[in-house]
Amino acid sequence: MPRRFGAYGGAYVPETLVPALQELESAWRSARRDPRFRKELAQWSRDLGGRPTPLYFAERLTRRAGGAQIWLKREDLVHGGAHKFNNALGQGLLARRMGKRRLIAETGAGQHGVATAMLGAALGLPTEVYMGRRDMERQAPNVERMRLLGATVHPVTSGSETLKDAINEALRDWITNVRTTHYVLGSAVGPHPFPTIVCDFQSVIGREIRRQSRSRWGQLPDLVVACVGGGSNAIGTFHPLLKTSVELLGVEAGGAGGGAGASSLVRGAPGILHGAYTYVLQDPDGQVVETESVSAGLDYAGVGPEHAMLRDTGRVRYESVRDRDALAAFHWLAADEGILPALEPAHAIYAAVRAARRRSKTDRVLVTLSGRGDKDLEVVLRHDDRGPR
Ligand SMILES: *Cc1c(COP(=O)(O)O)cnc(C)c1O
Repeated sequence: MPRRFGAYGGAYVPETLVPALQELESAWRSARRDPRFRKELAQWSRDLGGRPTPLYFAERLTRRAGGAQIWLKREDLVHGGAHKFNNALGQGLLARRMGKRRLIAETGAGQHGVATAMLGAALGLPTEVYMGRRDMERQAPNVERMRLLGATVHPVTSGSETLKDAINEALRDWITNVRTTHYVLGSAVGPHPFPTIVCDFQSVIGREIRRQSRSRWGQLPDLVVACVGGGSNAIGTFHPLLKTSVELLGVEAGGAGGGAGASSLVRGAPGILHGAYTYVLQDPDGQVVETESVSAGLDYAGVGPEHAMLRDTGRVRYESVRDRDALAAFHWLAADEGILPALEPAHAIYAAVRAARRRSKTDRVLVTLSGRGDKDLEVVLRHDDRGPR
């Protein structure tokens, strides 16, 4: 299991956390080789999660783009409405196998908190979720969802009162309660072994893409696109395709334009955030700067360390898409395909349409639709009121 991705990754954490990370690594090493664990994971993924998710030909969106075929990997159909379930399930089962009696999680938009609360209920593990106070206000329906699922939500009032502060609080709780508690980290970020574990659980997306596209077309897609917040749906999509010749494109949030938005790979520089060496949006003194994006799920100043390596080696190309273009893509998908996408993958849809326009009609562009848009209706409607898009 790699501790590093090139120069990136590692575990820059207080000494008190080192035994917990080691315990987690060795538990995961043994679980991933255990046929019983793998069978259990596959069964829950199918019966509770609804996997495998389909590939869908977006025929009318393809016509709008006027170039390559556009296909969607439908992670919006996973239980809970996003790919977050894949990771929460895997870590929940791993926690149970480790004999942990309590789950904790951080959440930004609330999607990972909801996924962890669902799994906590299904596995009978009490669940507590840390969430920035500002995010709790912005994402009130998800706070209610978590509570109805039996989780306790702790408001975090330090720092900017958003995701980065919630991760700090969750790490602090974990240090204190590590004997009884597993920390279900929600993206491919943080100290080793989290980026690898999260990538392993999300790689079900890319493995299904490989299998489904071969059986459907007899070959792989030409270009695969995914949005990048912390980078979990993207690394899960890309990882099983890294050794193929498929072109890979990660899409970050550009924000309103003018600033850096939340584009750590496009606009950031190497530094340390939440225990990993990776690309971070920071000021010249190395202080993490405030990010901004219309999509709460992409609003993070760092990114998973494997993406940092893939950026430097050039195996994956990363682009940035602005708020208003993501909102336009939201409306295209609604009008052309009858699908309301989450605003996070709407960034990827926009980049896919842009790429498809420049490619031949025989090419296939596949986009991971990481979640559905019900959670974003209020934001979308608010922007509509502000005038033309
Ligand atoms: C959380 C979220 C993201 C961003 O997280 P990653 O770890 O980068 O995948 C993207 N899409 C949806 C629907 C989300 O809920």
